[in-house]
Amino acid sequence: MLVTPSAAGGPGRGRQPALPRVALVSTGGTIASVGRDRLDLTGYAERAEMRAVGALLAELPELATVAEIVTVELPNVPSHALGLADALRVVRTARDLAADPAITGVVLTHGTNTLEETAFLLDLACPPGTPVVVTGAMRPATSLSADGPLNLVNAVRLATDPASRGRGVLVLLDDTVHAARDVSKTSANRLSAFRGGELGPLGFVEGDGAVVFHHGTEPWAARGAFDPGAVGTPPRVDIVLSYLGADGALVDAAVAAGAAGIVSAGTGAGYPTPAESAALDRAVAGGVLVCQATRVGSGRVTPRPAALADGMVTAGNLNPWKARLLLALALTRTRDAAAIQRLFDR
Ligand code: ASP
Repeated sequence: MLVTPSAAGGPGRGRQPALPRVALVSTGGTIASVGRDRLDLTGYAERAEMRAVGALLAELPELATVAEIVTVELPNVPSHALGLADALRVVRTARDLAADPAITGVVLTHGTNTLEETAFLLDLACPPGTPVVVTGAMRPATSLSADGPLNLVNAVRLATDPASRGRGVLVLLDDTVHAARDVSKTSANRLSAFRGGELGPLGFVEGDGAVVFHHGTEPWAARGAFDPGAVGTPPRVDIVLSYLGADGALVDAAVAAGAAGIVSAGTGAGYPTPAESAALDRAVAGGVLVCQATRVGSGRVTPRPAALADGMVTAGNLNPWKARLLLALALTRTRDAAAIQRLFDR
């Protein structure tokens, strides 16, 4: 890990001592990516060339007017190449920085493909005090109308705004502020890819730099509840997606692969096929913790007291891949379904 004052905010470049200090943790992704030319909006992903954070900041002197930036450069990787252990390392770094009283806010740059997963892990790990903001970009750094630079400026504005404190981890792209718990990438291409589903955004960073929150953030028992340094290697948790006629073989395969937990991404309000249900019942009988979620993309899977008594929890409105992360961390602590259910409930 490299920690340096940025070129944009470092001494000798006219830095104002009164500016808040923001730790910028970089992990690569499209926001750092280099395309073939300015019209390369897709092929850059195969080239896998990414800029160092210093190079990004050198082209963004405006950031020095918002905050003093301290960069923490983690390896540049496409976010779909990260494993849970990698994401936990990133989370640990950001959490430690957020605990530093000299730091006003933390900004994490991340590939958008799994951004919502790392942001969610951060929400599980960071006590809701110092603002932690995750951002990325849908267009590479070299493209026409690249969105990364303004996303970065807006993320730093958000991280330094007193109104951001105590709200849990925030995600900022396309001027829009989302709760990490609720946001998902909903388009493979559009600048407005990140949405909070039926819960909507929390607010916006406006064109004049003003941070405007329209909604509060609901308290949540699992927010900041896990120390990433203390969870060790979380157990295997798999996701099994339901579809017309699914026969349960993938549930059996997850159990055979050693899953301690399975998230069932059921149809509708959380309904697997009858054959999947039978396989999930076998899994529960074998000691696997099952979490029932939905493949729909928004809405809740409501509590099922009878199933809970048998050792099956429900995901509420967490999507399957966020439910998987919470279940994996919860299983490092307990196998008690009722205790785990409390972490899922709002
Ligand atoms: N390939 C990128 C990633 O690392 C996609 C992105 O950042 O938008 O997730």
